[in-house]
Amino acid sequence: WTSNTIAVVTGANRGIGFEIAHQLALHGLTVILTSRDSDVGEEATQVLQERGLNVVFHQLDIADPSSIETFANRIENIHGGIDILVNNAGVNFNVGSNNSVEFAEKVIATNYFGTKNVIKAMIPLMRPSDSGARIVNVSSRLGRLNGRRNRIGNIELRKKLEDNESISEELIDQTMNTFLEQAKNGSWEDGGWPRAFTDYSLSKLAVNVYTRLMAKIFSDRPEGHKVYINCYCPGWVKTAMTDWAGHTSPEEGADTAVWLALLPDQSISGKFFAERREINF
Ligand code: NDP
Repeated sequence: WTSNTIAVVTGANRGIGFEIAHQLALHGLTVILTSRDSDVGEEATQVLQERGLNVVFHQLDIADPSSIETFANRIENIHGGIDILVNNAGVNFNVGSNNSVEFAEKVIATNYFGTKNVIKAMIPLMRPSDSGARIVNVSSRLGRLNGRRNRIGNIELRKKLEDNESISEELIDQTMNTFLEQAKNGSWEDGGWPRAFTDYSLSKLAVNVYTRLMAKIFSDRPEGHKVYINCYCPGWVKTAMTDWAGHTSPEEGADTAVWLALLPDQSISGKFFAERREINF
């Protein structure tokens, strides 16, 4: 990894994303720090530049398809391509143990559909290399299929989402859209959806299944054109999202993302990690 290696981090103006950008830059990479708000993004970029790090800013709102398109065009024109993509941007309105179904649409649109749209826009820009391009998705243990809190009551659906043979983009999209319909018409509790932290945990469940799906799709690529994609849980981190509660610092929360992005072992793809160890989906 050199200063020719280009890494993009979404939602990097604060929290875990800022730390991921910081640590990747400390490894000597060129980091494209992105933020939906240009002012705070530029400010965050300046903080890292003043420490002598190779960081540039570009605006990117992952929930806005036109912002994604503009961003992709800029990356192509200015930088030519990228080597690493860290999908960190996310929202969560499930404060405490509340389900805020009124925000469900925004959460699913940002955390799942936004992340997916960024991945799709960046794939054509991922540069061929011997070490393979990398995608790291910042997810959560709350998105585990069989987690205590996130068990999907519809057993047939859970089985389909568990099995790499039966997963597809249509299945994930349809699962999210069905949940949203039932969240909006008030029937979500009867729909077999998990009862705790529902919209947020489902959005991360979708990110996890999409990670496995993309790993399967990428596995057909020839040597030199490989893309390795994994997801991880940063733990319970002291950031704005948790109202600065939590067990770990943003620095520690960023560690596994950076480790996965720079991992020399190229056999690892489609896996879920926490504290640098593989965990079950
Ligand atoms: P923060 O709220 O501090 O950071 C979230 C970041 O995402 C902010 O930079 C925010 O920008 C950005 N963001 C939100 N929506 C968009 C959007 N549409 N486009 C671009 N950027 C956006 O929280 P964390 O640092 O804790 O969260 C980072 C990631 O870690 C998230 O994906 C979260 O789900 C995940 N995570 C966090 C945990 C924790 O305990 N903190 C636990 C498990 C997972 P803005 O400043 O403009 O709002």
